[in-house]
Amino acid sequence: MREKNIPVRMCIVCKSRLTKESLHRFQIKDGILKMFEKSGRSFYICEACLNKNQHKIIKTINKKYNLTLSCKSDENFKETISDG
Ligand SMILES: [Zn+2]
Repeated sequence: MREKNIPVRMCIVCKSRLTKESLHRFQIKDGILKMFEKSGRSFYICEACLNKNQHKIIKTINKKYNLTLSCKSDENFKETISDG
């Protein structure tokens, strides 16, 4: 039998369906990728994608939200995400 009603969300990059605990929630605010705060449109990205699919994340977000975020390097990506 399946576990009962564990909320799952889909990683927008790899389309994996995972529990919320396995995902990181982000939002786009003023054209910038940020950690999800309280409101606004948000999406989930899984840990695995965050660690290795960073260029794909940027591409996916750009396409989905019609943005032109850029990612110069993997290290730069973490700076792209503002948790402030
Ligand atoms: Zn993923």
